[in-house]
Parts: sequence; C-alpha cells; structure tokens
Amino acid sequence: MTMRTTAMSSPSMCAEERERQLARVRRLVIKIGSALLTADGRGLDRAAMAAWVQQMVSLRQQGIELILVSSGAVAEGVVRMGMPQRPQDMHALQACAAIGQMGLVQAYADHFLHHGVQTAQVLLTHDDLRQRQRYLNARQTLRTLASWGVVPVINENDTVATDEIRLGDNDTLAAWVAQLVDADLLVILTDQEGMFDRDPRQDAQARLFAQVRALDESLLAMAGGGGRLGRGGMYTKVKAARLAAQSGTSTLIASGRQPDILLRLLAAEVLGTLFVADQEPLVARKQWLAAHLQHAGRLVIDAGAVAALRERGGSLLAVGVRAVEGEFKAGEVVACVDEQGLRVAVGLCNYNATEARQVLGLSSDRIAATLGYAAAGELIHRDNLFVEPGPG
Ligand code: GLU
Repeated sequence: MTMRTTAMSSPSMCAEERERQLARVRRLVIKIGSALLTADGRGLDRAAMAAWVQQMVSLRQQGIELILVSSGAVAEGVVRMGMPQRPQDMHALQACAAIGQMGLVQAYADHFLHHGVQTAQVLLTHDDLRQRQRYLNARQTLRTLASWGVVPVINENDTVATDEIRLGDNDTLAAWVAQLVDADLLVILTDQEGMFDRDPRQDAQARLFAQVRALDESLLAMAGGGGRLGRGGMYTKVKAARLAAQSGTSTLIASGRQPDILLRLLAAEVLGTLFVADQEPLVARKQWLAAHLQHAGRLVIDAGAVAALRERGGSLLAVGVRAVEGEFKAGEVVACVDEQGLRVAVGLCNYNATEARQVLGLSSDRIAATLGYAAAGELIHRDNLFVEPGPG
C-alpha cells in the first residue's frame, strides 16, 4: 500500500517527526485489542502473541521499559465456556472476563518466560486512577515492577467495572496507564492500518493519515462521531490519543498484523498513524503543576534544599525540610518555601502532612524505620516538582 499523508504534513516532515518522537522513547505502553488477540473467535492467537512478545523482548534489550495493556479476556472466556457467541448480558460478559483472564495472563507469562522475562498481572479500574491514593499506589507498584525488569500485563478489572466492556476495549484504560507511568509513547495495535479520513471498509478511496495532531477536533467526527457505541473502533482510539496527549504522550495506532510491527514502528518506519502530542510529558506535567494556585500545605525548606532544587535540579529530601504547615494527603500539591517564606517550588508530596512531620530533618534511609514503611526515598521527586524561576 502506498503511504498516504494528511494535507498538512509532507512525507518528509512525517518521517522527521517520527524520528524525533521515536528517538526519545524510554518508556512505552503497548495496547493490544481483542480483535487481534483472538483468532476469529477461536480463542487466543498464541502464534501472534509469541511474535509480539518476541518483539517486546527485543525492545527491552534496547533499553525500553515496557508496560502492556491487553484485552482479550472476554473473548477467551467465551471460547473456554464453549459459548456459540459473545453473550449480551453484562454480568455474563463480566463472568467471561474473569474466566478468560486466567488464560490471557497464563499465555503472556509463558511467552515472556520463554525469553527469561517475568510478568505481573495488574487489574485496574478507572476509579483506581481517579482516587489519589490508589493512583499513587498503582504508580509506585508499576515503578517497582519496572525497576525489577518485570513486564506488567494490565487489563481492566472487569469483575467490578464495566467501562471498557461497554465502550472501549481498553483504549481509554491504556491512555490512563500512559499518564500514570509518564509514558513517552502509547502504541495501540489493532486490526486496521491506522486512522483513515473515511471508513476504508465502505470507501476504497479512503486515505490513511500518517500523522495528525492528537488534539485536532476534526478527528473525532472522522472517526465515527460521539454517538457510535462500538467496543473499540477508531472513535475510542482517537479519544484515547487525545487523553494521552493531555499529559504529553504521543500515540501510534497501527496494525498488529504487520510483521515485526513493534520493531518497525520503534525504528521510526512510517506505518500506521502517529497522533502527535503538542508537548513532551515532563513539560506538560510541570505546566500542570505550575498552574496550581491553591496548595494543600507548605513545606519550609532550608538553604541546602533550596540550592539542591534550584541549582542541581534535585528532588526534595526529608533532610532539607524544617517545618510542615497545613494538612494534606499523599499526592496533593504543596508549596515549598524558603525560611523567609518565599516560594521556591510547587510539587506533589509522596507523604501526607502527618508523615512529613514525622520524617522532617531525617535522612532518606531512616524513613522506613520511622513510619514503618517507605513510599519513596524522597518527599517530592524532581519529576513532580516545578521550581519557580530563581531570583537574579
Ligand atoms: N477488558 C475486556 C477484555 O479484556 C474488554 C474487551 C471486551 O469487552 O471484549 O476482554
């Protein structure tokens, strides 16, 4: 197939932007949809899974951290129960998901283990990500898994939530996960080549977009309009790309049926559609922090900590904190002020106010013994800090 591009971007511009976006990928979220995973209702397509896993293992060897979001639980459950077709009833679908999830994670575990890579099952709901404390817990667990070199395999917890069964086939969940882990890129593998200007199944003249701006409003209408109630489909994928872009993550939507698709995409081959986010993740995050005018509390920090933040771009450690003002929960936005009360930075504190009071002045290695656990070595990680432009 010849590569078609949007009117706004020439093929060479697309290629350049790909190179730029792909060169900086260190942390990647890959989402694989049900249609791809389950071979025409005949259960999990293990040969296809083995091929994707092999590619993912190569990407890991290139130093890319991977987080996998996979659907396919409902479809596999339907097959395991010998049902002639997918049930209509929501509780039956949820039960199928619970059954099929067993096979799904087992298949991934086997394929990855074949290459000596451990996997971990993580089941999430949107509520888990909306609630601050759960969000932080999920984030911390995923970080720990990453630091151990384990690949998380994430699905929606369909027993307690039905959002993705009804609408998204995990597209939205994948975008949330990309935000959660500050991914540099989200790849959505599907059974289509990418995003077309019209439905390619109905119109042979439909053009594939090589590259679009993720926040371009006109894409939603092209992808099928808001009223369309399909599981998955292009509409929820475009929505997911928009959501990911809000935290600075670009999205690639491409066909999982192309050979070596993941390796080729990551090598910046112009395949599928790249939804470009306007900003990079860290910039988006810091802007979001900077825009916070109301702070749940204040940390008074000493001159050494001010210098660490301003001059060395460091994290805020407990040892540099003199006083904790106000009441705040872990993960809330707090201001850091110097001993004269001047604001130095704004950031997300890993501990609540009571805990912060208990550990202030202590070196990081004493946090666990003092609190009985340690959520993190630092009070505020440097990625979660916006440092005010310094005086002079
Ligand atoms: N989380 C579900 C799954 O993995 C969503 C897909 C569906 O509704 O079929 O199966």
